[in-house]
Amino acid sequence: MREPVLVPRLQPFTSTIFSEMTALAVRSGAINLGQGFPDTDGPRPMLDAAKEALFGGANQYPPGPGRPELRKAIAGHRARLGLHYDPDSEILVTAGATEAIAATLLALADRGDEVVVIEPYYDSYAAAIAMAGATRRAVPLVSDGNRFALDVDTLRAAVTPATKAILLNSPHNPTGTVFTRAELEAVAAVCIEHDLVAVQDEVYEHLVFDDHEHIPLASLPGMRERTVSISSAGKTFNCTGWKIGWACASPELIAAVTASKQFLTFVSGGPLQPAVAYALEHELGWVEQLRTSLAAKRDRLSQGLREAGFTVWPSAGTYFVCADVRPLGFADAEELAWQLPERAGVTAVPITGLTDHPDEWNHVLRFAFCKRDDVLDEAVERLHQLRSIAPSGVDQARTR
Ligand SMILES: *Cc1c(COP(=O)(O)O)cnc(C)c1O
Repeated sequence: MREPVLVPRLQPFTSTIFSEMTALAVRSGAINLGQGFPDTDGPRPMLDAAKEALFGGANQYPPGPGRPELRKAIAGHRARLGLHYDPDSEILVTAGATEAIAATLLALADRGDEVVVIEPYYDSYAAAIAMAGATRRAVPLVSDGNRFALDVDTLRAAVTPATKAILLNSPHNPTGTVFTRAELEAVAAVCIEHDLVAVQDEVYEHLVFDDHEHIPLASLPGMRERTVSISSAGKTFNCTGWKIGWACASPELIAAVTASKQFLTFVSGGPLQPAVAYALEHELGWVEQLRTSLAAKRDRLSQGLREAGFTVWPSAGTYFVCADVRPLGFADAEELAWQLPERAGVTAVPITGLTDHPDEWNHVLRFAFCKRDDVLDEAVERLHQLRSIAPSGVDQARTR
């Protein structure tokens, strides 16, 4: 066989940092705070609805755009936010948010086109842009010590005549940033000025804490017709393995996304679709409890990480909190992430693999708090060992 077999544009994507860290956690018996999946199930009636559908004959191809009751439930769910979509022409059910993102980028970005992403970015964004043959331009979030904020000037500077779309994720994985109205208005202004499509990944739309507010870009003036809004049941209903996602947009945009989606998977998750429809219509009370419980877990892990010696950025949403490793005397978060299972019996994810400027992010580790309290407590207890084994930090930080 000719070597290498993999086409050049996919060579950077042979493995993901999440699967590498999960494999390491399994190999070493470490507590996995690297990958963001919950360790408890979603609402029981949703699981029952899936079982009923499975034994009730819903096992053949569902309709291409998704089962009608699910599209109707998604429309109802969006309507809570004052956003009205026609279930027949403006909603497409996908194999998770991941397929919605890939299908959107394949449909909208061609060779020679550019897509602006906010970094650190979700790893599938980079791969999907590469599969489309397009080029990504990463705009780094900037820490003001208290949160990671959007740098609007850098965003403006990243747009060129070749830019087709801006892809952003709010609430934001991995930083826990929830974009403010002012930040989203700035994004909207850039999209409108340069006639760009906005793609908003809203998979954490319900997992927003304290008095922070999730604002869909599509709700801002002039954005409804140029935004593809993407979400998924996985994070909202603790069913990340189901891969039921969706895109909402204008008929023109949905028709474009459908053109690529139908030849990626055609359809998926037949018996799970009615269960997600049920959950969207009847289980938002359960989600509210999930949100409250996750806020408490965020506090629990953030506090524990601080006591173990990290500096921790406040997280306004998602499953994640970011921690600065430098106060513990480490200068290289990536190296620490590889050593963490052996040194402390815990895994976390370095942010470097999610950026185009790794040197600027190599002090940050992402920890997931979507775990049982006893798991979080045990992880924190183990992390206390780091202080005793850390190299005498200041010198190392200066010389590396
Ligand atoms: C988990 C996640 C996804 C993937 O969603 P699926 O529905 O599992 O495909 C997409 N974007 C972000 C930011 C995520 O954290």
